[in-house]
Amino acid sequence: MKEAIKKSEVLIEALPYIKKFYKKIVVIKYGGAAVNESGVDRSVLEDIVFMNYAGMKPILVHGGGPLISKFMKKAGIEPRFIAGRRVTDRESIYIIDKALHSINQQIVKTLKELGAKAFGLSGRENGLIRVKKLKSEVDLGFVGSVTSVDATVVRQLIEDNIIPVIYPLGTGKDRNLYNVNADDVASEIATALKAEKFVLLTNVRGIMKDKLDPSTLYNTLTVSDISKLVKKGIVSSGMIPKAFACVNAIKGGVKKAHILDAGIPHALLLEIFTDRGIGTEIVK
Ligand code: ADP
Ligand code: MG
Repeated sequence: MKEAIKKSEVLIEALPYIKKFYKKIVVIKYGGAAVNESGVDRSVLEDIVFMNYAGMKPILVHGGGPLISKFMKKAGIEPRFIAGRRVTDRESIYIIDKALHSINQQIVKTLKELGAKAFGLSGRENGLIRVKKLKSEVDLGFVGSVTSVDATVVRQLIEDNIIPVIYPLGTGKDRNLYNVNADDVASEIATALKAEKFVLLTNVRGIMKDKLDPSTLYNTLTVSDISKLVKKGIVSSGMIPKAFACVNAIKGGVKKAHILDAGIPHALLLEIFTDRGIGTEIVK
């Protein structure tokens, strides 16, 4: 009996959040760990289906780090990263496309198995993501920075209660295909759609003072805190694009950004539907 009452308490605790986020857009970026050796992580996708049935409008943007690196090594290319971004030559871009497309199909298939409607697309479709070559001290090759977002198709999908599943490629004015960091793409889509929330799911608890020590997790950071942490070098490598993606989203009108550990079972549900924050939240 006690057990049963506990369960009802958990459900009731979610009610204010369900009300608050009803029909609201939440953009979720899922890192490379979305698909590992054993296939897609169903628990994260279950959370997204839950959100969808609770009346929210989730949009999923995914990366493909480990699988891309695996495909590249198979083709004899050694993966290289500079400040969290992947060096991408002409040959790599096709490998990246293939790896991301395969992950995308697996995610869409699983969302459908879990009972939701989902549709997979890349940023190259219908001008969704337009880019220019990213400026950087070292030439990164075909790595783009987002110049514009045409979210017409994405808007239509969520209106029809279909979960958009997007992978981060964009087209340049030169008609070339560019690889874009998925954090950037997710942030730009969140901004274009004035999302209520922007959530980055990754492989660490959030932003930490010492990246190897979860007890140094920052629970809440402001936009100006983040700039300081980047300058000091506390935020480095793959966390740099994430930090800026959050800042960009907040400056663009998104209410709140979250960085969470996808490895915590049902991290999304815990963060969104309960009183406890479990990662780093970024506010104005
Ligand atoms: P994803 O595939 O989710 O984009 P990344 O590897 O690109 O993952 O980025 C996450 C990584 O950022 C972490 O695994 C960690 O090594 C690194 N990182 C750098 N600085 C920090 C920090 N201050 N706090 C937490 N993680 C950090
Ligand atoms: Mg990354």
